[in-house]
Amino acid sequence: MTEPQPQKIALVTGSSRGLGRAMALALARAGFVVAVHYGRNQAEAEKVAGEIRALGVPAQVFGADLTDPANAGTLVDTVIKELGRLDVLVNNAGITRDTLAIRMKDDDWNAVLDTNLTSAFTASRAAIKHMMRARSGRIINIASVVGLMGNPGQANYVASKAGLIGLTKALAKEYGARGITVNAIAPGFIESDMTAQLPEDVQKAYLGSIPLARFGQPEEVAALVAFLASDAAGYITGQVIGVDGGLYPH
Ligand code: NAP
Repeated sequence: MTEPQPQKIALVTGSSRGLGRAMALALARAGFVVAVHYGRNQAEAEKVAGEIRALGVPAQVFGADLTDPANAGTLVDTVIKELGRLDVLVNNAGITRDTLAIRMKDDDWNAVLDTNLTSAFTASRAAIKHMMRARSGRIINIASVVGLMGNPGQANYVASKAGLIGLTKALAKEYGARGITVNAIAPGFIESDMTAQLPEDVQKAYLGSIPLARFGQPEEVAALVAFLASDAAGYITGQVIGVDGGLYPH
């Protein structure tokens, strides 16, 4: 008889709402115990954990402000300490502070780079140390189509997402031999609080350039996260996979 396998643990940063919430639920449906992370919205994160438990899957809530990247490493260490292991890290938490580059304050630049990129690095560094010992692990970085194609008014955000793609490729090469895969997802325009902030004319312009002629849903990104976390995706690493309705074929 084979031994029962311990339940695998997945941490999704920024899973109190939006894409991260859908990812947490998709991973729970795929059988992962989920560490739900929030920055400011603890009540929302508790609600997500409640939805996961309603599926019959354990979930635990963790708070950490990722504007300070040191907190991302501590978050990973805390999850491992409390839940005993970490099999999947999804670096999803992200912010925008849009304005033209000539008007962009150092604070706007630093906040976006620290939250979106440096926190993903410090979280990955902590996770990899643990995953190396286990000789297995999955890191999934949520980049953006604009990290590939550029976008006016988003120099900080675009740089953070392009950096995340570079980080993905470097880590995939460094830790592939240790059984760790690292991939990036580049969502296009997905309906969430983040995109709801965009002016109507900008939303319309996007819609006109999307071959599938609609915006995406968080669940459509989450489905790819669940696949990349699965055993079936074991030979995929260093990739950037678009979920963008055909907006930017590459
Ligand atoms: P969202 O609805 O604005 O949610 C952002 C999430 O990140 C929230 O859970 C938030 O937690 C967390 N977060 C933000 N700042 C944080 C901080 N300083 N510390 C800790 N957590 C923080 O965004 P979304 O649309 O779901 O986007 C999720 C990811 O997908 C982001 O990386 C975004 O860049 C990327 N993406 C989105 C789209 C899109 O069209 N929506 C397209 C491409 C890429 P709290 O609310 O608890 O603070």
